Amino acid sequence: MIWRGVLHEYRAYLPFADNVQIVTLNEGNTPLIAAPRLAQALAPGAGMKLYLKYEGLNPTGSFKDRGMTAAITQAVHEGARAVICASTGNTAASAAAYAARASLRCLVLVPEGKIALGKLAACLAYGAEVISIAGSFDDGLAMVREIVQRQPIALVNSINPWRLEGQKTGAFEICDQLGGRAPDWHCLPVGNAGNITAYWMGYKQYNRGLPRLLGGQAAGAAPIVYGRVIEQPETIATAIRIGNPARWQQALDALDESDGQITAVSDADILAAWRQLAHLEGVFVEPASAAGVAALRQQIAAAQLDPQDKTIVCVLTGHGLKDPDAAIAQAAPPHLLPAQTAALEAYLLRK
Ligand SMILES: *Cc1c(COP(=O)(O)O)cnc(C)c1O
Repeated sequence: MIWRGVLHEYRAYLPFADNVQIVTLNEGNTPLIAAPRLAQALAPGAGMKLYLKYEGLNPTGSFKDRGMTAAITQAVHEGARAVICASTGNTAASAAAYAARASLRCLVLVPEGKIALGKLAACLAYGAEVISIAGSFDDGLAMVREIVQRQPIALVNSINPWRLEGQKTGAFEICDQLGGRAPDWHCLPVGNAGNITAYWMGYKQYNRGLPRLLGGQAAGAAPIVYGRVIEQPETIATAIRIGNPARWQQALDALDESDGQITAVSDADILAAWRQLAHLEGVFVEPASAAGVAALRQQIAAAQLDPQDKTIVCVLTGHGLKDPDAAIAQAAPPHLLPAQTAALEAYLLRK
């Protein structure tokens, strides 16, 4: 069967009107990649079956496309001419792409200097109006929430319920890819907490069993873990640099219902997981995407999670090329050689 995007594929599970015109870039259908070397590194000999749901392979390079196809489809259905969002970058890039496809004006608010290069480049390429604010994501979200009360413009942040409707399809796909059942554990990064909320909705609705949820927040931006708003969140994982999550209570409910856990992981641990993903499994993600793996690693090491014979899925939320600066800053610079075979040979044989 030809894949025509998550709304066509899972239409029966989504509350759209019959006459809706679907705006899609054929998002979804991302690979669930077995990660045996990473599993062995995290839990030697435990027989853990670890899988990576590589959401960086969506059309704009993050899972946000699952929600955006739904939000833009509904916005067009309701007659919107313009959309707006606050974003750490990926929501903005996704909104910009789907808005372009639907001929909508698109405004995106991003925190000045805190948006990764690949995300900014994409927003500009898709023709969005990029507004850089001297403030945080949380400040931007407060601004867009207010403006949509005054002006006829559709809000496409994950407080828009259609975003969650689209994003819950990730849970359907995982169950389908595991042969019709949910994993034992489902690990993911948590920022605004839309995705953890959406996945839990999806697992409950699909009725193929329920996983326990494990959320990872960056230690410098962990309001849910610490139980208080973080006024100045800070982390290398810019996609989850959020101090006051819009879906805070729903995330707590999902964690509670699933008998799950949420934990803070340091930037050093996020980068260690990020490196293992690339070095051991050949999967390159942006730093935030490694927070779920970092959380899993931490919980196994602390004996808070028993990996023995468990099926565990880590959602890798965004592609590594989103944040080339972070990747380059983590590595030694390339070796410089003269353009001579002898020099290459000497390099190959060096001790
Ligand atoms: C948006 C995003 C997150 C966080 O998702 P929330 O729904 O805000 O919790 C994590 N990683 C990446 C790459 C993202 O773009």
